[in-house]
Amino acid sequence: MSAQDGVDPLVKEELLEKDRKYVWHHMSAHNENPMIIASGEGSWVTDIDGNRYLDGMSGLWCVNVGHGRREIAEAAADQMMKIAYATLVQSHIPAIELAAKLNEWLEGEYRIFYSNSGSDANEVAFKIARQYHHQNGKPSKHKFISRHRAYHGNSMGALGATGQAQRKLKYEPLGVGFQHVPPPYCYRCPFGQTKETCSLQCAKAIENAIVWEGADSVAGVIMEPVITGGGMLVPHDGYLPAVRSICDKYDVLLIVDEVICGFGRSGKPFGHQNYGVRPDIITMAKGLTSAYSPLSATAVSAELYDSFKEKEATSHFRHVNTFGGNPVSCKVALANLAIIEREGLVERSAEIGQAFRVRLEPLNEHPHVGEIRIFGSAMGIELVEDRKSMIPASVERVTHLILACKSKGLLVGKNGDTVPGYANILTLSPPLSSTDEDVNFII
Ligand code: PLP
Repeated sequence: MSAQDGVDPLVKEELLEKDRKYVWHHMSAHNENPMIIASGEGSWVTDIDGNRYLDGMSGLWCVNVGHGRREIAEAAADQMMKIAYATLVQSHIPAIELAAKLNEWLEGEYRIFYSNSGSDANEVAFKIARQYHHQNGKPSKHKFISRHRAYHGNSMGALGATGQAQRKLKYEPLGVGFQHVPPPYCYRCPFGQTKETCSLQCAKAIENAIVWEGADSVAGVIMEPVITGGGMLVPHDGYLPAVRSICDKYDVLLIVDEVICGFGRSGKPFGHQNYGVRPDIITMAKGLTSAYSPLSATAVSAELYDSFKEKEATSHFRHVNTFGGNPVSCKVALANLAIIEREGLVERSAEIGQAFRVRLEPLNEHPHVGEIRIFGSAMGIELVEDRKSMIPASVERVTHLILACKSKGLLVGKNGDTVPGYANILTLSPPLSSTDEDVNFII
């Protein structure tokens, strides 16, 4: 599509006027002239002026199968005509089929609790963890350990777990009981170590936090397999297994947030499968439906679920949400997972990452590139003022680059807010269905 195919300028002006007057944009200052996306096909989106962009972030790390999938739309329409709504106080066919399908994707046996968003899925995980300890004879276990730079959602508990100060400013106090430890940020190791001297102090920091807080007060540790939005911080291979052992030692639950890393993004079905660990609770959203419809899930190990089967009046999980596990969304998820399986998109994700790794290698010599970090098909490029000093690139430099990419037809993301010294990591996470031409275009 070329720029001539855009809408009439008068129609556009009218839309913009309504947008300026009525729409409150997410996570951004008031924008008088936002890009208005009108359509999408594969890895590309088109704005109302008819300009095409490669959606290098799959929206917000979520459109894993790419845009314009008719079979997903047809699955939704079909389900709407059968039954658009049924509660999960009872059950319905798409929820049953999807829970079974998710168990194929997960290693081990998990119960699936459905919600609407990644934030919801994490809130559910926290409540389940606390209730589990209550019912398992350890009612004082209520705190959660998380990491600085992590993002786990926007609601009071999930934002409490989040370790990005600029996102919390003006909203505190948030959910209580969340403690933060330094992240496994090897490029700028918080413990001053190098690859050669690393002895996983970042994992030991979790053990220290548990001991200092008192193991009897700690319910769980929450982490993404790789911190994504906080800067694509790929840990040492031994990190997640070490955290698993620490959790086992202190009877602390390991909650793995797969909201971004799940559904093929990491080159495996789920991110934690790259590290050979079995979490107690796994939260998921985004790629579950490739964002064609809102849905999230909290997968809870069968052992944990057992304690919710007791016969006391309060021993079941007393949590409901009206839309969670909506039949249409579950059907959309099933159609989405069928595409990922049929087209081998988990493997494709690894291929895309490998192409980035090999072909962007020369960028490692660039004076403003500190480090390139890749996990599956997600990539972070840490920008610096110069390689030696490692001073984070200025906000101006990063903004300039993002706008330059956009002017060439590529949408890229960055970590965090526009805070000097923090938002210096460009992120890319294109649809897993990206073609070789799409990947070439990005490179
Ligand atoms: N967890 C992670 C790792 C995320 O990146 C996000 C959102 O970006 C969330 C949770 C929250 O998901 P949602 O925006 O669907 O509430």
